[in-house]
Amino acid sequence: MSWHIDTDFAGANACAPSLACAGGIALASIAADPRGSPEALWFRLRLRRLAHQAPAPLLELRDPGLLLGAGDGGALRPAVRCDRGAWTRLGPGTPATRADGGQAVRWALPDAAAMIEVALCQPYGAGDLERLLGEAAGALHLDAIGVSGGGRPLLRVSNHSGDADSQRPGIYVLARQHAGEVPGSWVLDGLLRRLAALGARAPLVWAVPFADTDGVARGDYGKDGFPLDLNRAWWQQPRRREAAVIMADIARWRTRCAPRLCLDLHAPGAAERAGVYAFTAIGGAPAPAAASAWAARLGPALGAAAAADFARQGDYPSRFPLDLNPCFTAWADAQGLPALALEISYLGKDEAVWGAQEWRAAGAALADGLAAP
Ligand SMILES: [Zn+2]
Repeated sequence: MSWHIDTDFAGANACAPSLACAGGIALASIAADPRGSPEALWFRLRLRRLAHQAPAPLLELRDPGLLLGAGDGGALRPAVRCDRGAWTRLGPGTPATRADGGQAVRWALPDAAAMIEVALCQPYGAGDLERLLGEAAGALHLDAIGVSGGGRPLLRVSNHSGDADSQRPGIYVLARQHAGEVPGSWVLDGLLRRLAALGARAPLVWAVPFADTDGVARGDYGKDGFPLDLNRAWWQQPRRREAAVIMADIARWRTRCAPRLCLDLHAPGAAERAGVYAFTAIGGAPAPAAASAWAARLGPALGAAAAADFARQGDYPSRFPLDLNPCFTAWADAQGLPALALEISYLGKDEAVWGAQEWRAAGAALADGLAAP
């Protein structure tokens, strides 16, 4: 076989790989690895060429109908890079049907590369965080606030440590409670760059860029992950170590600023193209007034990146009863802290396909909305 499927690196996700050859073209077929969860979506793999000048394989993703919001997979636009070059996005996929009616979706990959890396969207990992800190030239700081359930440092980025009883407005941000929801990291990156540039005019910001840091390292999707989705662990007594550590950090944060908002960054179903929208409440619960007020402010701040119906009530099918949704924003609301969850598209807005630049721009726009008096 002229290609090898490599999933042996941080953040990788693909399972049951197979390589077949038809008419001289290799077909690299994978499934997204659910890692014990009923949900799967995130995938990331490297294809390494073994035979000199072998043509690029077709990539096949199996069972897209079982990936959250992916439909027949034809609307997905995976990100690709060759030989560690710049990331771009593939065109729409070609749905394929097996003899038994089962579904798959296929993409042609760029030729002339010894290594082709493909992922659901452009990944964001430890190297990107390092680049952010380096380019902020001392305006952002990195601290470990504790360790994850798997014993990894749980990192927090801040623009200042804050001062006891300070009245500086404060923002606390989470990204990657669901480890595969990568657009949240890109938006946080843009948000932090903008707040760093504002200097002392910015609110105090403390942000956990990889809330499920174990899942990020493993390449998990993390939505409804086993044994408990991090965003369902915010009981009065936290049910995951990461929630316990972040609760303690928020207890410190709120004594060192005047809390304005706890912001939780997510990504929605794979094929949604609404840009950015807010969940002010889940299920039939009334939206807290603070969440509605922040949605009314941040939607316009996002401009064209915001969904037309920006402020939404989450009405998706939940594996938890609607009156029992121990998510981060519900916990923060119960602590008297204004909180809002944002969903950021993997794909973009309408016909526009987003990448790092557009996600960062959305983050910068959010930062301006957060920093406005
Ligand atoms: Zn999420």
